[in-house]
Amino acid sequence: MTSNNTIDAARVELLLSELRLPAIKLMWAALAARADKEGWPAVRFLAALAEHEVADRGRRRIERHLASARLPTGKTFDTFDFNAVPMVSKAQVMALAAGDGWLDQGANILLFGPPGGGKSHLAAALGLALVQNGRRVLFMRTTDLVQRLQVARRELGLEAAITKLDKYQLLILDDIAYVTKDQAETSVLFELIAARYERRSLLITANQPFGEWGKIFPDQAMTLAAIDRLVHHATILEMNVESYRRKAALKRKRGSGD
Ligand code: ADP
Ligand code: MG
Repeated sequence: MTSNNTIDAARVELLLSELRLPAIKLMWAALAARADKEGWPAVRFLAALAEHEVADRGRRRIERHLASARLPTGKTFDTFDFNAVPMVSKAQVMALAAGDGWLDQGANILLFGPPGGGKSHLAAALGLALVQNGRRVLFMRTTDLVQRLQVARRELGLEAAITKLDKYQLLILDDIAYVTKDQAETSVLFELIAARYERRSLLITANQPFGEWGKIFPDQAMTLAAIDRLVHHATILEMNVESYRRKAALKRKRGSGD
């Protein structure tokens, strides 16, 4: 009897590996012992096992998405001081973090403000919350992404590269105004914006208001066309505050008593 059980147990382990059910493989023996001891009906045992696997899969999926999102570390809502940006409504940002509605409509978020005002931090925190809510996000410096798309264009794969980014419901383009003249001329950024319009969301941060966007795109017509698409369905958050870095440095200096 015991030896039969041992053989069955060994087979179960092999079968669970074959089926790729790692959570069940980890749990089943302890749960089976408990079920035997407490006289659970078979259906209850099976349901408990399946629930573990499903919950574990959800956790592993979010871990994978978190790794592929390339978010800067430590930039969360917990470490963000909303009092430092009184013009930004915390309630509004938290509603956006739920992700419902705007992501499904491919609507955008535009974050404007001077350097050090917390744009990248807020963008990353929002991205993190969305991943935790089951969405897919990619955070990139705009110049890096443009460079990547330029390489794709040279290899005649721009369309495929842009389509590949569709798996991210939110693409965070950090510091769009840092796009250089030669990057602007290839217009890959425009292609990206046009392709995602009303389908997939963008979150863009910029130090410069629209008036200064002339050098991001090859000509004025394209600049206007890009802005038009970006703002059509967009939440615009202005973070016109003094640099948080500078303020923190001043505070330290005052605190030190000299
Ligand atoms: P920006 O992208 O607008 O130039 P950052 O988001 O990089 O600014 O912010 C500069 C630094 O100050 C970062 O280390 C960031 O974490 C911190 N910081 C900015 N604003 C806040 C804030 N409101 N609360 C906490 N930290 C902040
Ligand atoms: Mg920044």
